[in-house]
Amino acid sequence: MGAILDALHRLQQVENELNTYRVKEEALRRKARQVERQISKAEAEFQTQREAVTRCQMEIDQAELDIKAREESMNRHRQALNTAKSNKEYAAVLTALNTEKADASKCESRVLELMTRKDQLLGESKSFEQERGRLDERLKKYQQDLERYLEETRSTYQRLEKEREAAAAGLPASALATFERVAAHLEGDAMAEAKRVSARGEDHICGGCNMSIPLEHINRLKSRDEILVCSSCGRILYTDPVGARHA
Ligand SMILES: [Zn+2]
Repeated sequence: MGAILDALHRLQQVENELNTYRVKEEALRRKARQVERQISKAEAEFQTQREAVTRCQMEIDQAELDIKAREESMNRHRQALNTAKSNKEYAAVLTALNTEKADASKCESRVLELMTRKDQLLGESKSFEQERGRLDERLKKYQQDLERYLEETRSTYQRLEKEREAAAAGLPASALATFERVAAHLEGDAMAEAKRVSARGEDHICGGCNMSIPLEHINRLKSRDEILVCSSCGRILYTDPVGARHA
């Protein structure tokens, strides 16, 4: 492999290592983001629920005011019974009193109903708070995992970034541009080895997409330091990575 292809290959290896770190970091960040979304959802539900408790309490207060007003009215009717001047008047006041009594009793049932509902809502609030507590714990753990990971990998990551810079600096601008264009297109996987199909024979396939490579390409790769891309997948081809760092 010529100097340019060798440098590109080295660049690809550094990129691959960097990418392993990025993927892991992103996975950790994603976990934390997911819990953050769960927290905002729980928070919104909790808010709705707290508003329901407030509305319930307002209805209770209103019903209790109604009961009080009816009780006062009932007292006035009771006094009116004592001072009724005729049977007819007495009967009319009694009817009004009984109607008030029936209405007050309805109001009282309603208050009981509302109080039961409020207790139920408050019970739900408690489980919301517990769920929220669990989610907060989980988020804290994921954030710590991420921080620990970043801390542990910082020096390696910085070293790899320097290596990438060095590998890129040794390349002609056009070669680097081709590499970056292909890498951007194929999620960082810019190079593929031209592999011999069998120990004997000269048939080669692209290690990236397994499609066959014309022999003419192989000869050019072996004789010149030339950038050739696979006609199927577009990866930059190389043969015999003798200069590979991990060879
Ligand atoms: Zn290919």
